[in-house]
Amino acid sequence: MARAALEEWRRRIREAVGAAAGDGGYPLEAVRRLLALGVQRIPFDPTVGGEGLGLRGFTAVLEDIAAVDGSLAAVVMGAYSAGAFLASAATPEQRRALLAPLLAGEGMYAVAVTEPEAGTDVAAIRTRCRRLPDGTWRLDGRKAFISNTGHELWRGAVVLARGPDPDRHTAFLVPADAPGFSLGPVRDTIGWSRVGVHDLVLDGVVVGDERRLGEPGKGMGLALATFDRGRVAVASLACGLCRAAWEEADAYARRRHSFGDPLVAHEAVADHVLRLWRLYNRARLVTRQAAEAADAGLPLAVWAALAKWEATDAAVEAARLGVQVMGGRGLLRGTGAAARWGDAKVLEIVEGTTEALTLVLRRRLRREGLAAAPEEEPRGAAHAGA
Ligand SMILES: Cc1cc2nc3c(=O)[nH]c(=O)nc-3n(C[C@H](O)[C@H](O)[C@H](O)COP(=O)(O)OP(=O)(O)OC[C@H]3O[C@@H](n4cnc5c(N)ncnc54)[C@H](O)[C@@H]3O)c2cc1C
Repeated sequence: MARAALEEWRRRIREAVGAAAGDGGYPLEAVRRLLALGVQRIPFDPTVGGEGLGLRGFTAVLEDIAAVDGSLAAVVMGAYSAGAFLASAATPEQRRALLAPLLAGEGMYAVAVTEPEAGTDVAAIRTRCRRLPDGTWRLDGRKAFISNTGHELWRGAVVLARGPDPDRHTAFLVPADAPGFSLGPVRDTIGWSRVGVHDLVLDGVVVGDERRLGEPGKGMGLALATFDRGRVAVASLACGLCRAAWEEADAYARRRHSFGDPLVAHEAVADHVLRLWRLYNRARLVTRQAAEAADAGLPLAVWAALAKWEATDAAVEAARLGVQVMGGRGLLRGTGAAARWGDAKVLEIVEGTTEALTLVLRRRLRREGLAAAPEEEPRGAAHAGA
């Protein structure tokens, strides 16, 4: 990864985020600025039109955005997940027709896996796909809690559906304007409050075979590989949150006085600030390790699970301590400290709950044991183009 190139990206992106901060609702203007800069290209390989800075570079950028605006970082992360899914499965023709416009910033796709009756238990999804005699596919079902939907730049979703074999799953890129594809109600969550989270309804949606991603029946494997990358990205959002909580608490504890002294002079408050700094660095180090493993093409599941677990656990604690240092002001609606309270909890839920990560790690523990660090020799195939 070219360090100078990454630093230049970070500078430009920080500038764009700073300039656009303060939007109410879905951060459309900020997203437009970031897409115009090309943030969506950063992690992807130059062979598919990316900037080649990998997940290591992208997580550094996401952390910077998340330190300023958790919802904006979530939107950029969500768009990446869809792009990574596409890049991992796309045929050369799909790269030209579907991935290239995405990397050019012409809009964003969501990833729609969760359903009202199936979240952690992904294999239990009920959305069905059926091959029609003319070779097209019909999709029916409902998706729940889908981020980054329903805004002007939304172009559709990567949809995971059951079928054509009832025990297997297939993925499709469904355009937002496909007949029968509609937005359900908005999910008004206390964190990621400006991310545009909706249910999606698929009622007899017909898509051509050119919108099928990967082989029929192979969608679950693609989804799981994308989740691993998404988990590292979520971990970087947690890093940004921890950094913001630490920096804000540190500044506040120097500025605010009680009993004639700055707060930081009181041992209990100094310990809170110290702990915030530790939480940030703990999150950052484990996230960096996972991102580097991804870029080296090493098996990622375990390191992504560890990074997401540690970093989001740190984020929840950082959000709590941040409010504690700020006192009553930390609970005022509209402040960063209050927003982080909800955002941190979301980070523990999306892209695999902490309990789901435990399942991954426990399975590995029982089967082959846990390693001390990522293996040095690549065992699995590197993620194509992302
Ligand atoms: C703001 C927000 C944005 C989201 N964005 C998206 C998106 O863009 N795309 C998408 O597809 N989904 C999205 N989701 C959905 C998210 O991925 C799910 O909420 C998550 O996977 C958990 O599923 P669930 O809510 O159905 O909880 P459930 O699966 O019902 O789980 C409830 C609780 O039980 C635990 N649990 C379940 N099974 C087990 C088990 N076997 N062992 C131990 N514990 C278990 C869970 O960890 C959790 O604590 C979003 C959610 C939120 C809140």
